[in-house]
Amino acid sequence: MNDYIVRATAADDSIRLFAATTTNLVQSAHDAHNTSNVATAALGRLLTGGVIMGSMLKNETDVMTLQIECAGPIKGMTVTVGGEKDGCVNAKGYVINPNVEIPLKENGKLDVGGALGAGFLNVIKDMGLKEPFAGQTELVTGEIAEDLTYYFATSEQTPSAVALGVLMAPEGGQVLCAGGLIVQLLPFAPDDVIAKLEEKISTMEPITEMLKKGNTPEEILNILFSDMGLKINDSVNAAFKCDCSKEKVSKAIMSIDAKDLEEMIADAKPIEVNCHFCNTTYRFTPDELAILLKNKKI
Ligand SMILES: [Zn+2]
Repeated sequence: MNDYIVRATAADDSIRLFAATTTNLVQSAHDAHNTSNVATAALGRLLTGGVIMGSMLKNETDVMTLQIECAGPIKGMTVTVGGEKDGCVNAKGYVINPNVEIPLKENGKLDVGGALGAGFLNVIKDMGLKEPFAGQTELVTGEIAEDLTYYFATSEQTPSAVALGVLMAPEGGQVLCAGGLIVQLLPFAPDDVIAKLEEKISTMEPITEMLKKGNTPEEILNILFSDMGLKINDSVNAAFKCDCSKEKVSKAIMSIDAKDLEEMIADAKPIEVNCHFCNTTYRFTPDELAILLKNKKI
C-alpha cells in the first residue's frame, strides 16, 4: 500500500482533518539511516507530522523545516518537506544520533520523550517571501505529537489535536505501521462542536492501534468523525525522498575557495561528501575535482 494523506472536513467545514499512513516512508527513513527502534519512532513521528503539515502548504515550491534541538541522547533531528508536487508530498530527514538505545517505558512503549529530553522545536517555512516564517516553541513532552500541538496553538494560533504513531517490530529494523492524524479547529467552530471534538480526542484509541488493525486513513476518519458530517475532500501521496544529486553536490564543491580545492586536488585522493538527509555518499576523484575547479574559474 502506498503512503498517503487524506484531507477532509467535518461539522460544516468548521474542522479540518488530515489522516495519514506513512509505514513505507518511515521504513525508508530507517533503511537510509539504520536507526535504532526509538530513533526510528522519533524520526518517523516527526516525518509523519512533517508530511501532513507539508500537505497544508499552498505551493509546490514552498519548503518547511521542522528542527528539534534537545538535550536527550538523540541530540536532535531535522525534517524538511516540500509542498505537494505531482500529487506527492516528499520529506527527508535525519537524527543526530541514530544509534540511541534507551529502556522501554513502563507501558512497554518506546521512550521517544526520554530520547529527546528537554529542548526546542523550530519550524521554518520558506514560501518564497522576503523573510521565511520562523517559530520556536519549547518541547512539551518530547513525544512529538504534543510538541506539534503546542506549536500550532502558540505559533499559528490554531487549536489542534495531533496524534502520531510508529509501531516497530521488537527485534528491530521493521516498521509494522506508522501514521498520524491532525485535527484543526477553524475560528468559527461553534462551542458544541469544540466540546464534542474534545471528548472524541480524549477517548480515541491510540493511532497505532487503529493502524495495526489495518484501518486506512479514510476508515480512521470514518470511525472518528462519521457522526460529525465528515466530508473527505482528496488525498495526496507521501514519500521519503531526498532531492540531492551529484550535480547539486558539485555546485556546493564549486563554491569552496579555489585555494582549498587546489589543495584537495594536490592530495591526489578521492573525496567523499555525505548528504545528511538521506545518507547518500557522493565520491569525487581528483580528476573530477580538477574539472570543477576549471569550471569555477570560467
Ligand atoms: Zn540526500
